[in-house]
Amino acid sequence: MPQVSLEVVAHFETPFHIGGGVTGESATIKPLLRDGHGRPYLPGSALKGVLRHEAERIVRALTDDPNAVCHAPRAEAMCPQEPRFGEFCPVCRTFGSPAYPSPFHFGDLTAKATDANLLASTVLRYGVGVSRYRGAAAEDLLYLTEVVPAAPFTLLRGTIEGVVDEAEGNGPLALLLAAMIALRMIGGGRSRGLGWLRLEVTDPPLTLPQVREELMRWLPIGG
Ligand SMILES: [Zn+2]
Repeated sequence: MPQVSLEVVAHFETPFHIGGGVTGESATIKPLLRDGHGRPYLPGSALKGVLRHEAERIVRALTDDPNAVCHAPRAEAMCPQEPRFGEFCPVCRTFGSPAYPSPFHFGDLTAKATDANLLASTVLRYGVGVSRYRGAAAEDLLYLTEVVPAAPFTLLRGTIEGVVDEAEGNGPLALLLAAMIALRMIGGGRSRGLGWLRLEVTDPPLTLPQVREELMRWLPIGG
């Protein structure tokens, strides 16, 4: 079975915030998630989640079929349940489902020790939540977000490894690479201009035309 190993570098173009997003996190202060060395990092599971979301958009757009992809993360709405009973959609065949292990393993993206000082000097940013109903900023929705301000110099690196079934060919790899090209923002800060990035793959195994060609071959396009 063909093995792949992708060296991934995340180049942040703006300050970013990658939080734990866990319950128990204070509603008014959103701290950065940190690794065992105290450095901000991007967990592989979070990277996988945002790439899956990009892949869903890509497959729906290319197939022009909203039912070409299931509805993660609810297990009962994922393959082989709805909407394609007994089948696994291209996104599940790349990122997995409760009943289908992903052929890829997503490692954490971490900072090199030499960037430790850069990453240590985080700042707190004020944000103001806006009540949709009142349409105005409410004082009790004021919060602070801890961000890494060092962009565009900050780099996080990691590895995605995989073993893809020969019957699939390069389809899952092409969808993964397409999602990495499409991903431009992470951390939910679109409205505040946080978390814009570019993911680079060192020595990518497929060129851009090859990615396109593999997707056209692998996805159920045109019926
Ligand atoms: Zn699916």
